[in-house]
Amino acid sequence: MNDDAIFAPGFATTPYWWEEAPPPAPGTPAVPDSAEVAIIGGGIAGLSCALELGRAGVAALVMDKEAIGWGASSRNGGALSGAGSLGRAKSDVSKGMDPRLLAEMVEEAEASFDALDALIAREDIDCAWRRCGRFVGAHSAVAMTTLGKRAALLNAAEQGSAELLPRERLAEELGTTRYHGGLRISRAGALHPARYTQGLAAAAQRAGATLAGGVAVQGIARDGAGFAVATTAGSVRARHVMVATNGYTGRATPWHRRRVIPVASYMIATEALGAERVRALLPHGRVYGDTKKILYYFRPSPDGTRILFGGRATLSDTDPRIGARWLHRQLLDLFPQLAGTRITHGWKGNVAFAFDMLPHVGVQQGVHFALGCNGSGVTTMTHLGTVAARMMLGGDNRISAFARMPMPTMPGYTGTPWFMPLVTGWYRMKDRREGWRV
Ligand SMILES: Cc1cc2nc3c(=O)[nH]c(=O)nc-3n(C[C@H](O)[C@H](O)[C@H](O)COP(=O)(O)OP(=O)(O)OC[C@H]3O[C@@H](n4cnc5c(N)ncnc54)[C@H](O)[C@@H]3O)c2cc1C
Repeated sequence: MNDDAIFAPGFATTPYWWEEAPPPAPGTPAVPDSAEVAIIGGGIAGLSCALELGRAGVAALVMDKEAIGWGASSRNGGALSGAGSLGRAKSDVSKGMDPRLLAEMVEEAEASFDALDALIAREDIDCAWRRCGRFVGAHSAVAMTTLGKRAALLNAAEQGSAELLPRERLAEELGTTRYHGGLRISRAGALHPARYTQGLAAAAQRAGATLAGGVAVQGIARDGAGFAVATTAGSVRARHVMVATNGYTGRATPWHRRRVIPVASYMIATEALGAERVRALLPHGRVYGDTKKILYYFRPSPDGTRILFGGRATLSDTDPRIGARWLHRQLLDLFPQLAGTRITHGWKGNVAFAFDMLPHVGVQQGVHFALGCNGSGVTTMTHLGTVAARMMLGGDNRISAFARMPMPTMPGYTGTPWFMPLVTGWYRMKDRREGWRV
């Protein structure tokens, strides 16, 4: 198949999810003169914060420089878990972290999975949500040992929630022989991310939030007991400000920008393959990932007829068509049975890594923030947005484990990840040295 033959007629560089649920047109950008809480970023973090505030009777203003929900929140794989979403903690349980804090993070992350389930039910969000479990393939024999540690961590939080499968049993889970076995995690699920984000936006609005798409925040300054927020639609006075810009954090908030590493993540959607062909490759219709540094993640589409496949084709920013070519090659490497399959969509979005690979929520000089999803943010950002709201409201005695570690930066780093091409090369080499070749 030549390079361009992989693109089906009408190939789009917008997310597959937007076919059904495109972000709303911004309309005429406008903001009120004042708001109790001004939230920068209209993704899952900003919207869940606004929703929680609204439930407590506090009306928030959510601003997004693009349409509400335009960012990673409507572009992601829609694969969720609880502690399985933790950044560094999920694979690297031994290096330098207070084990009690780590255990609390795991417990809190697990609880946030149930909380998301409850939120979807309470707000009646129609987003193809189902608890389907997750399978993580081991790319090497050593990775099986790491997965064994992760299984112990998850089973300590809830016995029986994780099971290690040796290579001989891989066929139970996947129609590929590429992995050395893997880890089955029962507490995981899938949803339609654009429909989920729109559902959250509608719930926040019902609770009293004002949503302002097409409004870019340009800067924040102290103004008496509150803040003056400069935007492209005028200035807003606010009692509290919340930064929820994750992988799109820009110059308006330099302290936060210095603490997040934006990394592009890419996805493709195959043309419709038919439910039977998809089931032959993904028999239980779960969500899937693997242990490589440059990882793959994939799942069936909600109607079960396509495969949605994602990865960090390169950690640097590149054209989605180039990213799509990489991913198509990787998809066929994993599932040679798909030779000749074309793709209808290839898109990208930004995630945010923290320097300690952990999610963070907190307050810096009076400004609240929830940042650093480390690639898995649907559950985490729903939770941290809610935590940020509770911190503003006060009265919650239990401080979130994710608010207890300072968010680190690196000397000289101002927000431009110049080192990403080097990191990509290093990661590729590491995966290759551990035996993974495409
Ligand atoms: C391709 C891809 C696949 C992924 N797959 C998964 C997955 O399967 N499971 C999972 O759990 N997570 C996944 N993620 C991660 C997940 O999508 C994110 O962690 C999550 O959506 C982050 O939500 P957020 O609200 O913090 O940020 P975002 O949704 O990115 O929202 C940030 C918003 O801030 C806005 N903004 C930035 N600067 C300004 C400004 N100055 N003024 C106004 N607005 C501003 C942006 O326009 C943007 O809309 C994936 C991400 C990508 C990109």
